[in-house]
Amino acid sequence: MDHLDDSTGNPLNDLKNRFPLLNQVAAQEPVFWANPHWIPFNTAKDQAVFTINQVEAARSRWHRFRPYLASAFPEIGFPEIGDRKGHIDSPLVEISRMKGVLERYFSRDIQGRILFKCDNLLPVSGSIKARGGIYEVLKHAEDLAQEAGLIQPSDDYSILSGPQAKQLFKTHTIAVGSTGNLGLSIGIMGAALGFKVVVHMSKEAKQWKKDLLRTKGVRVVEYASDYSMAVREGRLQALKDKQTYFIDDEQSIDLFMGYAAAGYDIADQLNAMQITIDKDHPLFVYLPCGVGGGPGGITYGLKQIFGDHVHCFFAEPTASPCMLLGLMTQWHDRICVRDLGLDNQTCADGLAVGRPSGLVGKNLNTMISGVFTVDDAMLYQLLTLVNDHAGLKLEPSAAAGAAGPAWLARPEAQKYLDHHSVSSTMDRAVHIIWATGGSMVPDDEFEVYTLKGKQ
Ligand SMILES: *Cc1c(COP(=O)(O)O)cnc(C)c1O
Repeated sequence: MDHLDDSTGNPLNDLKNRFPLLNQVAAQEPVFWANPHWIPFNTAKDQAVFTINQVEAARSRWHRFRPYLASAFPEIGFPEIGDRKGHIDSPLVEISRMKGVLERYFSRDIQGRILFKCDNLLPVSGSIKARGGIYEVLKHAEDLAQEAGLIQPSDDYSILSGPQAKQLFKTHTIAVGSTGNLGLSIGIMGAALGFKVVVHMSKEAKQWKKDLLRTKGVRVVEYASDYSMAVREGRLQALKDKQTYFIDDEQSIDLFMGYAAAGYDIADQLNAMQITIDKDHPLFVYLPCGVGGGPGGITYGLKQIFGDHVHCFFAEPTASPCMLLGLMTQWHDRICVRDLGLDNQTCADGLAVGRPSGLVGKNLNTMISGVFTVDDAMLYQLLTLVNDHAGLKLEPSAAAGAAGPAWLARPEAQKYLDHHSVSSTMDRAVHIIWATGGSMVPDDEFEVYTLKGKQ
């Protein structure tokens, strides 16, 4: 409680008096919270340190790397829209029967259409981290290669899979702290380019992820402590070596921009599906949240395109609602779930983060629509329902967004809908459940998940 001890009296009681919902959060009850700091995007955008130019620069960088990615990973690119070779993206699919399935499970009528963004199928590393993590590795490689005179932005980047680039990259190290998936993305891409990679894994990290990385020659350092500690250790060790570049999940703008470029992917896909988003057709997006970079970046990217017509809700485990705490109290990264007595123990390993990113919380303070929480039993059940009825293989973290449409149909959300003048247009709403990972989970492990879901 070192951060909360600086006020007089009992700081926790004081917080709970100011924010009564914290009593339920502390009792690990699932909650829905609408963000009172939300303001229209036209004003909100001027309060962030980032700009649209940075998102566009990220899109251009992804483009420049397509020839390299296509040559190093021929499996990248699915034929949904035009030529996608070397474009790391996932299908956006409407699964209409899931609406009835979710309605029955939650005993709620859900209005509008239900789509899944299948980042569980993202190539290379099978999770949303393929957006942010891989992007920052590519940017670092580009910086080094340009500095060394190996490439210019107008070149064909496939030369980066050649021997000269490998010679250069093998003298450099990339380090990262991770609960698993970020390490997987950065490890696989870093190793493919020829970098030395060190991944500092928190105790949540699954054994198969560590094993897979080791087969790629990645050094995996294991910690008995949580994610924040793994990041801190990684950061400290990286500081000691000039050739080591640390990818900072808590503070990196590059990582954030890699995620933000997904806004354009969604716009293209909705276009191709002839789905319009406007005042009469609101878009609701449900994003599982760990430290916040992934959902934060995607929210920022979507806001650039859809402005106030997109409503982004973050989904967190009841044991690790760090972004909820940070936003609600406005303490951001100065509060952690332990301050509230929560243990950060959840089956959603990708979301097992006790302290939110300050960068994301402070800059998206007025853009995020709200946060809801989901308990572990429900994560297993949602994962199983989505597998049975939509045929998608998700890890527990990735199932959290599936609770979103039902939360928005509950009385708790009515004030939000009224305030945003969408109550009467909900029958034309589009809900996107962001399925953030899972295709690489070993089958025997996945079977254990679904057994738990069926219990
Ligand atoms: C990391 C992760 C998230 C959340 O991303 P953050 O940047 O940590 O908020 C969601 N789902 C899965 C599967 C993840 O691995």
